[in-house]
Amino acid sequence: MSYVFAPPPLASAPVVGTTARFPVHRIYCVGSNYRAHAEEMGRTGREPPVFFMKPPDALVPVEAGATGEVLYPSLTHNFHHEVELVVAIGIGGRDIAADEAMRHVFGYGVGLDMTRRDLQAEMKKRSGPWCIGKGFDHAAPLGPITVAAQAGTLLEGQISLCVNGTQRQHSALGEMTWSVPEIIAHLSAAWALVPGDLIYTGTPAGVGAVERGDLIEAACTGLQPLRVRVS
Ligand code: MN
Repeated sequence: MSYVFAPPPLASAPVVGTTARFPVHRIYCVGSNYRAHAEEMGRTGREPPVFFMKPPDALVPVEAGATGEVLYPSLTHNFHHEVELVVAIGIGGRDIAADEAMRHVFGYGVGLDMTRRDLQAEMKKRSGPWCIGKGFDHAAPLGPITVAAQAGTLLEGQISLCVNGTQRQHSALGEMTWSVPEIIAHLSAAWALVPGDLIYTGTPAGVGAVERGDLIEAACTGLQPLRVRVS
């Protein structure tokens, strides 16, 4: 088979302990998954899950020990960080039961759901889609993926984010409204999950703006940290 021009490269993420990479199919995101963040965004935290997607080529994969680069996007004056646990799917399926969900998980990474908050807010006001606020270029930084068996008791751990050395976000992962298996159950009822799917599982409270030159450091117990510079 030939193409009329060279196809774009497949998005992929590094995997801890191997040179083989995780090939990315889709990027799903959970809109609001910690009570305190839901409240800061004006909701109760008890609503059913909201899902949205980012295009796979919005991924900014960052190697272990490296500092990635995120370009400050166009059109916004309120560019926000959201630190999130990212679930990497290794076995696909549809209508996956929560108690079967963990065997579909390949591994986990620390990610940033970067957000043009002013544009998202404008779309919410107009009852429009969030694409312009969430699905722009460089919107999905991701650190190296740790395979599930090596992540241990990750889901009992903590997630946090610092900007220029000052902590802005911190939570126990146990504070999620919907657990990882529940998210997989809900998502796979709506879409067939495929190996290579990534799920950004929502951010805790403390989201806020970053400026050009800021250093964002995101961490999650048991996983490789993620560092990116806004430029
Ligand atoms: Mn988010």
